[in-house]
Amino acid sequence: MAERKVRVRFAPSPTGPLHIGGVRTALYNYLFARQHGGDLVFRIEDTDTTRFVPQAEAYIIEAFNWLGIKFDEGVSFGGNHGPYRQSERRDIYKKYVKQLLDNGKAYIAFDTPEELAKKREEIENFQYDNKTRTMMRNSLTMPQDEVEKLIADGQQYVVRIKIDAGEEVLVDDMIRGEVRVKSDILDDKVLYKSADELPTYHLANIVDDHLMEITHVIRGEEWLPSAPLHVLLYKAFGWEDTMPRFAHLPLLLKPDGKGKLSKRDGDRLGFPVFPLDWKDEQGNVTSTGYREQGYFPEAVINFLALLGWNPGTEQELFTLDELVPLFDISKCSKAGAKFAYEKGIWFNHEYVLKKSAEEIARLWEPEVRAHGVNDSFDRIVKVCEMMKDRISFVKELWPLCSFFFEAPTAYDEKTVKKRWKEDSAQVMTELIGVLEGIDDFSLENQEQIVHAWVEQKEYKLGNVMNAWRLTLVGEGKGPGMFDISAFLGKDETIARMKRAIEVLG
Ligand code: GLU
Repeated sequence: MAERKVRVRFAPSPTGPLHIGGVRTALYNYLFARQHGGDLVFRIEDTDTTRFVPQAEAYIIEAFNWLGIKFDEGVSFGGNHGPYRQSERRDIYKKYVKQLLDNGKAYIAFDTPEELAKKREEIENFQYDNKTRTMMRNSLTMPQDEVEKLIADGQQYVVRIKIDAGEEVLVDDMIRGEVRVKSDILDDKVLYKSADELPTYHLANIVDDHLMEITHVIRGEEWLPSAPLHVLLYKAFGWEDTMPRFAHLPLLLKPDGKGKLSKRDGDRLGFPVFPLDWKDEQGNVTSTGYREQGYFPEAVINFLALLGWNPGTEQELFTLDELVPLFDISKCSKAGAKFAYEKGIWFNHEYVLKKSAEEIARLWEPEVRAHGVNDSFDRIVKVCEMMKDRISFVKELWPLCSFFFEAPTAYDEKTVKKRWKEDSAQVMTELIGVLEGIDDFSLENQEQIVHAWVEQKEYKLGNVMNAWRLTLVGEGKGPGMFDISAFLGKDETIARMKRAIEVLG
């Protein structure tokens, strides 16, 4: 068989916001496609009309756009294997359902929900399968003319796959190796429902993977139980030669490792479980997103890439492009990956460090302006130069740095108690005199002159600096004192000191 071009797909069901685990699945598909020079397809699996949520598709597209994960074809991206929305492929599926019926690989079943419920009551662990199908109302147990009559009369029915006992089903999984399952235990899953004339997930998924020439199916572990059925469907259609290889990715676990990560864990522990904010119909945010919480897309990518895979070295920081050649699907772990969200914060901090002060300033400027600050952009950059390495998120800057732009209006009580000594007012008044005499108000020059004065007066440097900081900042935080005074300039520095002396006495 000729080597086929690698083609993978990300195929979400638009039932709500995309879970962060889905983002990781898409990322691994992306990396796999890129490293093999293949294609990544974006397919929308919307055959379950009861769970369809209209805004979900646009949300998913926006999320990947933000993250920089690019698709080669699919919904909103074009391509020649479309349409890529399953709801637009109804006629295609009908043809394939007919093929399975004609070949005896599937059959029609009329059992109503009530009849099925009754059977479940009668028989413990009932499932519709090779042992029980003979007791049910289907085209295997009923005469053909009766079946035809019921259909002609408009009776609703489903089409089920006919899985015969005694077969060993082999799932070739790139992470888990060869997974073998006995066909005896599988049930005759519904493939199609006459009621809405739509296939179920299983049939649509396989038909589309085949028609879209998918070579590798990389998806979450929750789909592993469906894989034997999918293998059997490929066989039922006679498509064994183009059966994709599978990779079922490890689950994302709660931070403590006990159970599957859920939205509730995020709410409880205060971290997002979705890439973007999700809003309800009234426009209220019901789930917070990584973007709105101030994460950089590069940090989210880097964090997710290492949840379930690692390069086998100490290196932790990777760009998306750097990950492409390194990623190895066969080295993904089988065991679930703990969602260590604090590591995500650490990654964001690392990306703050990587970015220039100017880049950070550009991100921060709108907030600074919203506080009515008119300082030049260069001054905002200067503050970022001094302070950015202390933060993990840009939103931490304003509470940390507002004093550069706004004089304190109050003085922190605790700091006053500790740092404002009996002689502080007098020492600060003297210092004002010293500062007034400095023409070159550069950091270095101030430092030299002020230190000389402190030495000459035999003051304690720490006491002077602490009191001075209180006058300029209003509390005990901030970078070096001369960084602050040089930034504020002579007039503003002295004005703030005078005000503090007045207030604190
Ligand atoms: N529509 C399925 C989902 O929502 C796709 C599963 C698969 O990739 O086969 O995850």
